[in-house]
Amino acid sequence: MGNGPRSPVKFLQAETTAEALDALGCGARAIAGGSDLIVRARQSNSPLPDHLVAIDRVSTLRQIQIDGGSARIGAAVTYAQLVDHTVIAARLTAIRDASLLVGSPATRHVGTIGGNAMNASPAMDTGAPLAVLGGRAVLESTAGRRTMSLTDLWIGPGQTSARSDELLTGILVDLPSSDSGTAYHRLEYRRSMEIAVAGAAAALRVDRDGLISSLRVALSAAAPTILEIQHLDAAIGATLARASAVAREQSMDQCTPISDIRASAEYRRHCIGVMAARAVATAYARATGQTISQWASTP
Ligand SMILES: Cc1cc2nc3c(=O)[nH]c(=O)nc-3n(C[C@H](O)[C@H](O)[C@H](O)COP(=O)(O)OP(=O)(O)OC[C@H]3O[C@@H](n4cnc5c(N)ncnc54)[C@H](O)[C@@H]3O)c2cc1C
Repeated sequence: MGNGPRSPVKFLQAETTAEALDALGCGARAIAGGSDLIVRARQSNSPLPDHLVAIDRVSTLRQIQIDGGSARIGAAVTYAQLVDHTVIAARLTAIRDASLLVGSPATRHVGTIGGNAMNASPAMDTGAPLAVLGGRAVLESTAGRRTMSLTDLWIGPGQTSARSDELLTGILVDLPSSDSGTAYHRLEYRRSMEIAVAGAAAALRVDRDGLISSLRVALSAAAPTILEIQHLDAAIGATLARASAVAREQSMDQCTPISDIRASAEYRRHCIGVMAARAVATAYARATGQTISQWASTP
């Protein structure tokens, strides 16, 4: 016998959300693309649960709905879907930036935004974009539905505040106004199959004089959970240069990075500042009508 994952005792392919919720109520664990759950089991980091319910064929969980000023992204929406969606590209650009960076084409075709959120890695790529956009999680169980801020959902590395019988069914995001721009940058040592060494997202608005009128910054791989930066008031009413400096300083002050095989805490802290400033610069360029591709060189 090899050392691969053992077969789950029970496996249900759900066709509807109700079927998935019933299974979760009976102790099953959700599986979407399996790119975290199965890979971790193969690496023997954590065994597969005895009871799995696959949600990748539940059509309502695979939809992106735009309704007036908000978007509802189904939990089983893949990165490939996000990359191809015109409203995500135009209005929620930081989510597209992050989706484009994930893994490889194969990972992007199976990996889901819901799996990323529920896996709750501090280095998850969609986390910082969703945090600066004020993303909210819709959690459902057979007992009902509740909505909470994603930053309240993430409570530690690999830990969420969701109950085991709750399914993340969608993520709600308000579409930013036309004077807004958003961006996500991550430090990586190669272009694909990489995990963020440090990452930062920014969402901002620019007034008629070209000054910053609102700013949010969040970091990945910088703390035990995705970290939204506080005390950015000095950036309001400021030029891009000043706002970038404020974002850099506050990010470096507030992050609590770890040292590991990929980077020392000291190097991460420095790079977190650089990523935060880059995210602000790219978001500003987009807010002022420039088209900045994720792969373009940044100031
Ligand atoms: C080669 C490779 C490269 C990768 N590169 C990146 C990268 O660049 N950036 C990055 O952020 N991640 C990366 N990942 C990690 C992974 O692909 C993502 O986190 C992905 O979004 C996970 O989604 P999934 O659908 O595959 O999750 P799954 O593996 O199916 O599930 C992950 C966890 O979430 C739970 N879950 C899933 N959906 C729900 C739901 N709707 N409700 C409740 N719980 C749920 C599962 O029970 C499990 O605990 C990579 C993985 C691989 C294998």
